[in-house]
Amino acid sequence: MRWRAGTPGMVVLAALVAGDLAPAAAGGSAADPAPAGCRRSAFRVVLDVGHTLEVPGAMSARGVTEYAFNLKLAEAIQQALVASGFDNTVRLITATAPWRGLFERAARANAMRANLLIAIHHDSVPDELLETWQYEDRENHFSDRFSGYAIFVSNNHPDRAGSLAFGHVLGKELEARGLHYTPHYTLPLMGRHRHQLIDADAGVYRYDQLVVLMQTRMPAVLLEAGSIVNRQEELELATPERRQLTAQAVAAAVEDFCSARARALAAKSTPSTRARHPATAAH
Ligand SMILES: [Zn+2]
Repeated sequence: MRWRAGTPGMVVLAALVAGDLAPAAAGGSAADPAPAGCRRSAFRVVLDVGHTLEVPGAMSARGVTEYAFNLKLAEAIQQALVASGFDNTVRLITATAPWRGLFERAARANAMRANLLIAIHHDSVPDELLETWQYEDRENHFSDRFSGYAIFVSNNHPDRAGSLAFGHVLGKELEARGLHYTPHYTLPLMGRHRHQLIDADAGVYRYDQLVVLMQTRMPAVLLEAGSIVNRQEELELATPERRQLTAQAVAAAVEDFCSARARALAAKSTPSTRARHPATAAH
């Protein structure tokens, strides 16, 4: 994400259908009907690579663009998903600058009939919190105050429950691999960039007006994989090991989520004994 001073107020979009929200799928029911497996090849995950080559998002403490970090991480996640059987995974790379580009991302994911969208980003802090240092004889900006991942979902999403359910399993899988989420979005010093922590167990924040999260029809989350303005975390995020850790967590979370959705679908399509035999119930 790039926190620019003077970002205009988010455009409020009309015509959002307050749909029939599906119940949270994660966790599923203990009963696991036989035909209800996750069909991995049929489950399409779209990895939206945040920002563009020309408008590359935040700048790391050592002068590397966020877009470069996003691209490499998305590639590692795609490989991990394909290796787990999710061979329909697509990396979405957009050249169109925001705002138009943001709508284009959502429209493309919708047209692909994706089952899940994960927007891949790396975190920064608002400009006013940045400090200056010299790195390789150049002036760069950093903030070592915060580190860790953060997950965002929109309450305006037509499948808010699904997005939250995936955000939860993703946060838990990241935590299980020794990563932690950053709590700083709740702090008053974040000003207008403050966000409500809606799942304190998994590090999921509410960010209602993010275009890719509110215009997509499939469950959608935005992952800030870590802070590239934190000088120590930037070094870690640049390693294949850290990318692998995040990629494995995403793959495990997608597996959990796909299975839970399949179970929920099977439960919905299997009529209950009572419904199938109303006469019996009447007697
Ligand atoms: Zn970003």
